[in-house]
Amino acid sequence: MKLIFERSVPGRRCYILPKCDVPFEDIPDDMKRQKALRLPELSEVDISRHYTTLNKQVFGVNCGFYPLGSCTMKYNPAVHEEIVGFPGFQAIHPLQPDHTVQGCLKAIELLKVRLCELLGMDSMTFQPAAGAHGEFTGILLIKAYLRDHGGEARDKIIVPDSAHGTNPATANMCGYKVVNIPSAPDGSVDLDALRAAVGPDTAGLMLTNPNTLGMFDKNILEITNIVHEAGGLCYYDGANMNAIMGTVRPGDMGFDVIHLNLHKTFSTPHGGGGPGSGAVGVKEILVDYLPGKDTVKENGEFVLKEPPKSIGSVRSFNGNFLVYLRALAYVLSLGGKGLHEASQNAVLNANYLRVLLKPHCRTSNEGICMHEFVLTIEDLHKKYGVSASDIAKGMLDCGVHPPTMYFPLIVDEALMFEPTETETKEVLDESAEAIIGLLKQAATDPEALHKAPVTTPVGRPDEVTAARSPIIRYMDFDA
Ligand SMILES: *Cc1c(COP(=O)(O)O)cnc(C)c1O
Repeated sequence: MKLIFERSVPGRRCYILPKCDVPFEDIPDDMKRQKALRLPELSEVDISRHYTTLNKQVFGVNCGFYPLGSCTMKYNPAVHEEIVGFPGFQAIHPLQPDHTVQGCLKAIELLKVRLCELLGMDSMTFQPAAGAHGEFTGILLIKAYLRDHGGEARDKIIVPDSAHGTNPATANMCGYKVVNIPSAPDGSVDLDALRAAVGPDTAGLMLTNPNTLGMFDKNILEITNIVHEAGGLCYYDGANMNAIMGTVRPGDMGFDVIHLNLHKTFSTPHGGGGPGSGAVGVKEILVDYLPGKDTVKENGEFVLKEPPKSIGSVRSFNGNFLVYLRALAYVLSLGGKGLHEASQNAVLNANYLRVLLKPHCRTSNEGICMHEFVLTIEDLHKKYGVSASDIAKGMLDCGVHPPTMYFPLIVDEALMFEPTETETKEVLDESAEAIIGLLKQAATDPEALHKAPVTTPVGRPDEVTAARSPIIRYMDFDA
């Protein structure tokens, strides 16, 4: 399709303004733009067609099944959009006096209280704008705490190899050395390796639980105990909270700090790079270090106050308020029981799909999974030359979004499925049938799979070039 700039015709407009009936005041020359703003010039129908065409090329959760592992692409109730559209939430400014935004502050406080209850934590910050940003904030909190408690020399963070890739990246960004420890054969943390890794230089552990294989670590209490005894703190990557809401609480498992991906578990729209909300929950010992400002009640009114030993701000003002407000709408509309049911159904759906696919393809682990599971296409790859990518591309032609590919790195030819609780049995049945068809086709017609997809606007882009040298603006702009 043509770019909107390529459709531009000088002078074309989609409005006709009435004749000006007030005196015309000229703007002083020094305040005028020196070069005309280069905006595309189009008629209304051109614009409408442009965006509708773009819309048709996008695949979203409103188009079909979207089992992208480790991303929790659940359906977001449309009513949240109406709630965040209320003028009381929209028509405000972050520099307004606290007493004029009491409803908004109450909403922040309410979300904090409800999520702390769900996590077993003592306080939260909503400043971080994404999951990885929450991790960064959480590790800075650990660093500040250790600095004040004689642990400044502790310079290592332990990260199991089943962790999400952002965990080691975060530890590194915060100036720590990353100590990678291998998983036991069943995908859990190898306790002996952990015992051998901890010591007086341990600042903490970062754990993704359930891990990227969709396994809940059965030794979780032992793990946090080993780290605490060595004098380190425990960080919980809670982006996979969708599996465990209302069943277990990271606070009770011994974790000191956790981030949530409100844009995954708590039904906030995501994809396309944001905006998101990586809320961070902490135990009492870290509360004074929280970034930004906290909602505190004084003389019956909410005020925003900087915690006494705050690490500073990790983002402007109070984070993406309208983004995490949707999380509040979700938490309040489901309630504690509803959140628990959502998690139970997420786990049930994952296991249902896993059992449907299992006779046709190996899974990375035996037994029951949490909210996601990993298939390995290794056998088909060796026998017929069909890769995980070929199967994923084939799924596009079946109207199903591919799962996460080649992740986690510890599984060869990995396909990671996370169906979420918002899919029905019928959708899971139909999608499983389509995927099984592709797995069978690997033996009968591998060539066709190498050519897939054939129904999408773009088939197999050069992913390395797309990632390394993306063209994200109209290149002729300054010409
Ligand atoms: C998605 C995810 C992250 C990163 O979250 P972003 O919002 O993409 O920065 C971190 N850890 C896990 C386990 C995740 O699934």
